[in-house]
Amino acid sequence: MKGTAPVTEKADLQSVLDRAAEGGRITPEEALDLYRDAPLHALGSAADAVRRRRYAGTEHIATYIIERNINYTNVCVTACKFCAFYAPPKAKDKGWTRDLDDILRRCAETVELGGTQIMFQGGHHPDFGVEYYEEHFSAIKAAYPQLVIHSLGASEVEHMARISKVSAEEAIRRIHAAGLDSFAGAGAELLPARPRKAIAPLKESGERWLEIMEIAHNLGVESTSTMLMGTGETNAERIEHLRMIRDVQDRTGGFRAFIPYTYQPENNHLKGRTQATLFEYLRMIAIARLFMDNVAHIQGSWLTTGKEVGQLSLHYGADDLGSIMLEENVVSSAGAKHRSNRMEIIDLIRKAGRVPAQRATTYEHLVVHDDPANDPVDDRVQSHISSTAIEGGTAHPELKLLASN
Ligand code: SF4
Repeated sequence: MKGTAPVTEKADLQSVLDRAAEGGRITPEEALDLYRDAPLHALGSAADAVRRRRYAGTEHIATYIIERNINYTNVCVTACKFCAFYAPPKAKDKGWTRDLDDILRRCAETVELGGTQIMFQGGHHPDFGVEYYEEHFSAIKAAYPQLVIHSLGASEVEHMARISKVSAEEAIRRIHAAGLDSFAGAGAELLPARPRKAIAPLKESGERWLEIMEIAHNLGVESTSTMLMGTGETNAERIEHLRMIRDVQDRTGGFRAFIPYTYQPENNHLKGRTQATLFEYLRMIAIARLFMDNVAHIQGSWLTTGKEVGQLSLHYGADDLGSIMLEENVVSSAGAKHRSNRMEIIDLIRKAGRVPAQRATTYEHLVVHDDPANDPVDDRVQSHISSTAIEGGTAHPELKLLASN
């Protein structure tokens, strides 16, 4: 593994791990030593102890959510090197934008399939300022008030505020008033300057990303936080990313969850020269649970790492297995091939020794699947790379299913 020599002796490493397992705060230096050198099983066991204590009484439960990513445009001026989704504005034959009717049809399908959340996700379109999001969020909320709009992040706020020539604070106030419930925390990638400039040179700095999240939290708009692993960052830079989030969280408490995911190597400018291993990913889940003692939820992922690793993450500190995405096109464009459905996710969680529960965006349990005899049977609730989630469905049978398995 990359990075400098450990500063903690072996015996001390165990005492740091014991302290962390008991809920004591660890320093970034200690976190780096544990991340690099603690035995994997010991790291996982300490993280699981912290999870069980935090969720005492419901520690037997692991959650998932049903949501839909709605990709409103792929046109983007920011040209991140790891991204396989965007089209630059001058590539007219590759760029597309969905109209509002199309977006509302996708919302209708989400409701029909029991989804509770939509993630509005797209490029930094050169014409889309605050007004675009106000119009779309208010139309979605007017038609489907039951859908939670958990979308966008600091990068989109920075971009739309620039286009509309307003402050980030005004942009957040206005899209929140129009219907945005919470930020998904996209665009965090790697927050430290060196790796961020290497993979997303046109994005705002990591400090600015956090500053905008802090403004949002102070306005009552909470968020999740993410990390993209495996684009050539060092272990020290990964821990620095966690430290930067933890410091803001100490002030705001507005990050509901931390969600690391792994870089996918296809169809982008980095060409897969580097990648995080599955062991590095599991170590990250565990160290995030131990180090980020002020963040409630650590989300495991099956989309980029596979179902078995997703299952394992539940034993390394994760309390949530993310979403069944009725539609996903962004990481899928970069090569993420894993697909699943609601019944399979329920089964995966159960076989990991937990009771599955469908959750809301704010993590309340909506349905606890404690009796297999009552499991849902709608096999249309599955993840797709598609233009529509429903094949031959009643909502919009005219829309063709493009690809799924
Ligand atoms: S990651 Fe987002 S901001 Fe970066 S190029 Fe892709 S669509 Fe644009």
